[in-house]
Amino acid sequence: MPDTFDFVVAGGGHNSLITAAYLARAGYEVVVLDARSEAGGGASTEELLIPGYAFDSCSTGHTLIQINPLLIRDELGLVSEFGLTYVDPDPVAHVVFPDGEHFTMWLDLDRTLEEIRRFSAADAVAYQRMLDEFDEVKGVYGQYRFTPIGYGPSLDEALVDHPAGRVWMRRNVMSAWEVIGREFESRHIQAFMSWMAFQTAQPLDSPGSGYLAYSLVGGRQRRSWSVPLGGSASLPRALVKAIAAHGGTVVTDTLVTSLITENGRCVGVETESGDQYRARRGVISSIHVKALVDMAPAESWGEEFLYGVDTYNEGLSSFASYYATTEAPQMRAGDSGSVEAVSAGWAAWPEDVIEFGRGLRQSRIHRPGMFLLFVTPTLVDPSRAPGGGHPIKILSMAPYDAPEDLGDWDSGGKEALAGEHFGILQECAPNLTDDTVLARGAKSPVDIERANPHMWRGTIHGGDRGLAYGGAQRPVPGWASHRMPIDGLYQTGATTHPGGSITGGPGRNAAIVILDDLGRSLVEVVGGGSAS
Ligand SMILES: Cc1cc2nc3c(=O)[nH]c(=O)nc-3n(C[C@H](O)[C@H](O)[C@H](O)COP(=O)(O)OP(=O)(O)OC[C@H]3O[C@@H](n4cnc5c(N)ncnc54)[C@H](O)[C@@H]3O)c2cc1C
Repeated sequence: MPDTFDFVVAGGGHNSLITAAYLARAGYEVVVLDARSEAGGGASTEELLIPGYAFDSCSTGHTLIQINPLLIRDELGLVSEFGLTYVDPDPVAHVVFPDGEHFTMWLDLDRTLEEIRRFSAADAVAYQRMLDEFDEVKGVYGQYRFTPIGYGPSLDEALVDHPAGRVWMRRNVMSAWEVIGREFESRHIQAFMSWMAFQTAQPLDSPGSGYLAYSLVGGRQRRSWSVPLGGSASLPRALVKAIAAHGGTVVTDTLVTSLITENGRCVGVETESGDQYRARRGVISSIHVKALVDMAPAESWGEEFLYGVDTYNEGLSSFASYYATTEAPQMRAGDSGSVEAVSAGWAAWPEDVIEFGRGLRQSRIHRPGMFLLFVTPTLVDPSRAPGGGHPIKILSMAPYDAPEDLGDWDSGGKEALAGEHFGILQECAPNLTDDTVLARGAKSPVDIERANPHMWRGTIHGGDRGLAYGGAQRPVPGWASHRMPIDGLYQTGATTHPGGSITGGPGRNAAIVILDDLGRSLVEVVGGGSAS
């Protein structure tokens, strides 16, 4: 293999694979280096516990990437040429509340409204109104998210020109709870809406989370929680094929430890084993910005950038546990029996959810408000386990430093917390007796970071998505357009606009910017359409 390429890509999450795939398609020689044994980062599917049980160790739902032009127009042939297929589970979600009541969201809107009416007729009207209002502006938000910063109007500029825009300028800075508490009267519907709005780990009372109260239900009511057949890794596997089809290379088990700079320009990277990969045209990173700044001399970044990275907030850390079982959770559903749902949960009362979020920032866990998402993809994709078995994941949040009452994460703390989470799942789904469990495991925030250094301090979205760290301020004001202070170095991934989750937004946006710097356009590369 040569040691010099047009572009060297450090970190192979789905975003940087997307950037690399567009550049390979444009005819550039690319190499992607990833620390893990398979590229894909948080889009990974692994036999974590026992053979044959394929767990999505991180993401499962790929809803947000469905509106990326990458998939809408299948710009890289991921669907038509490289086998990527999505299914949309129905029911969309099912939750059990602390008082034993339950709620099911269906793809059929009328059926969801009927379910809401069990609690409040007024709330069904409010839900429908929220969806309608979101429908009016969702195109503006989509355009903003899938356009690089500086290549289109700011969100406020775009909204001010929209007939309904000024209302949304207020909602953008409200908290999710301010929206939900105002719109809904039933405590149960408030709890369901809060559970939904908290899915991206943005605290319910944080300014700027107001949009999430609309967007998460809006997206899921339309197309559910889209799940790739074969597992989350099906997305990066298709991308790796797309890169290879255009002569690119993906190298795994390779940790990048430093940037090579010459005459003020980034010209390559060095790996843990001392190998050098040199770049003729540029280096693209999805290394977390907190680690990236230590990979080149401080003076090459400049004080303002370093201040920006220093003040960039990590956000809430996550906690996950995994169970290989012989049965899927049959979630309590009152007189109608039980419901099985790929996305299920325990929806705490809103005041407790708010306290849970506050507690996490003070290294404590407010138990009554825990966020719990129970994920069972085999309900729509039985190929992921043998003999009708199920790889179940429970997702929650926890402080990076284990709270005192749990002890050290590595000395029993994570098993103790996972046990509490599983206990609640068993209350919600009594069929999951201990003898249905073939194997179990847990990842503390520290383990999540160990498995992927881009998930800095166990945070899974590249950092806080609050007002101070989004849009033109992500990762640092003045450097939100993917170009870093060191000439020749670009940043993509969850630390850049529009942030974390499986959206592909940072990856495609970075490709637009890099191609622009080369005097090319993404439209020309993919043969039509619009670049944003
Ligand atoms: C338990 C869990 C559940 C989640 N569930 C969902 C979900 O259902 N839906 C959703 O949308 N999102 C979910 N997420 C979040 C989602 O996985 C991430 O936000 C997303 O993967 C970020 O993508 P990325 O391309 O920016 O980077 P990542 O996926 O983080 O990939 C970064 C890559 O860079 C590599 N890397 C980092 N540093 C180096 C280095 N120095 N040298 C070489 N390689 C390096 C890593 O090995 C990794 O492969 C979940 C995450 C977790 C942990």
